[in-house]
Amino acid sequence: MSGNKTFTMIKPDAVEAGNIGNITAMIEKAGFKIIAMKYTKLSKEAAGKFYTVHAQRPFYQDLCQYMSSGPIVAMILEKGNAVADFRTLIGATNPADAAEGTIRKLYAKSIEANAVHGSDSDENAQIEGSFFFSAFEQFA
Ligand code: UDP
Ligand code: MG
Repeated sequence: MSGNKTFTMIKPDAVEAGNIGNITAMIEKAGFKIIAMKYTKLSKEAAGKFYTVHAQRPFYQDLCQYMSSGPIVAMILEKGNAVADFRTLIGATNPADAAEGTIRKLYAKSIEANAVHGSDSDENAQIEGSFFFSAFEQFA
């Protein structure tokens, strides 16, 4: 059975471009409830820890540099079938391949600076949400 929570970040490019409001509006309009939200900035070390799963990929160092280059907004979202439905809402990793009307199609600048993160499984949604929020904050 699919879970009802996912984790997202509005990435530095989208925060810098002033798109926090546009993106959260799209998220809410799509039926997701924002149940935890934090504006913060990652150190390079913290970005490295968050993206440990990609440590062996060629883009890892650049990604950690980029993700620590400016503030981000971390959120836990609630909705039925949250992980899959949110991946549909954000679109493909590379905005050039993202479907019309998706968040990345509208707001991403490049395959790296692609506006938003979205968890890829229920298990990772739990791990990633816990990276930013305590159990108390998640369910307050
Ligand atoms: N990324 C990148 N170059 C690539 C693939 C990914 O810079 O060739 C970055 C991009 O910011 C992406 C993140 O690394 O969102 C994580 O990659 P993943 O394959 O997990 O894509 P996502 O799940 O975010 O669509
Ligand atoms: Mg991913």
